[in-house]
Amino acid sequence: AGTGKFFVGGNWKCNGTKESINKLVSDLNSATLESDVDVVVSPPFIYIDQVINSLTSRIEVAAQNSWIGKGGAFTGEISVEQLKDVGCKWVILGHSERRHIIGEDDQFIGKKAAYALSQGVGVIACIGELLEEREAGKTSDVCFRQLKAYADAVPSWDNIVIAYEPVWAIGTGKVATPEQAQEVHVAVRDWLSKNVSAEVASKTRIIYGGSVNGGNSAELAKKGDIDGFLVGGASLKGPEFATIINSVT
Ligand code: PEP
Repeated sequence: AGTGKFFVGGNWKCNGTKESINKLVSDLNSATLESDVDVVVSPPFIYIDQVINSLTSRIEVAAQNSWIGKGGAFTGEISVEQLKDVGCKWVILGHSERRHIIGEDDQFIGKKAAYALSQGVGVIACIGELLEEREAGKTSDVCFRQLKAYADAVPSWDNIVIAYEPVWAIGTGKVATPEQAQEVHVAVRDWLSKNVSAEVASKTRIIYGGSVNGGNSAELAKKGDIDGFLVGGASLKGPEFATIINSVT
């Protein structure tokens, strides 16, 4: 782990029912969690209120998306103001599923990040390359292009956690090796140092996501620039998610 406080997010994606989420919340409420870790879970919008009303305040809640500006006539969207109203402190933006399945582009995501931050909601800002981009040697180009879109839009990095999530590792069971993840985290930090500031580079937490589970998190957590994880599938299992949280070193 790095020098910043370890940060572990659980992205539940479009999974769960009232009943299964009740069970997951109760497992999380009874889990023993290392105190020196920020923990956030991200339920589907429709269950956020249920989760906030039943989950221990030890764990904060993130939305999986938010609207680009103030709410109003935007059918089907959820505004940052509404997220705040129900007690949501974070939002995941730029997730690869939103980039590559829904078609959100870098600038749209950057603007969403800026708006959420302007309202005091923290941003888990995702970046990451596709398999063909990695194979073509374009991993840094892609990550830096995505980072630049955030940097061009946001006034400050105080409330941002960067999630490096190689798309080929998400939901595939194919985790990046600790060395592969560390290499990109170092490159991201270096980019921040050159393009934002040395202070932001050293303070910003860079977490890894992509098939993290209770069996591989400890090795990944040993790397000096891995400040935590964004976890999909394994965050749906309370005890395993707790193991990942407790892999902080
Ligand atoms: C994610 O969706 O952010 C993710 C990392 O998923 P998984 O852990 O299932 O690969």
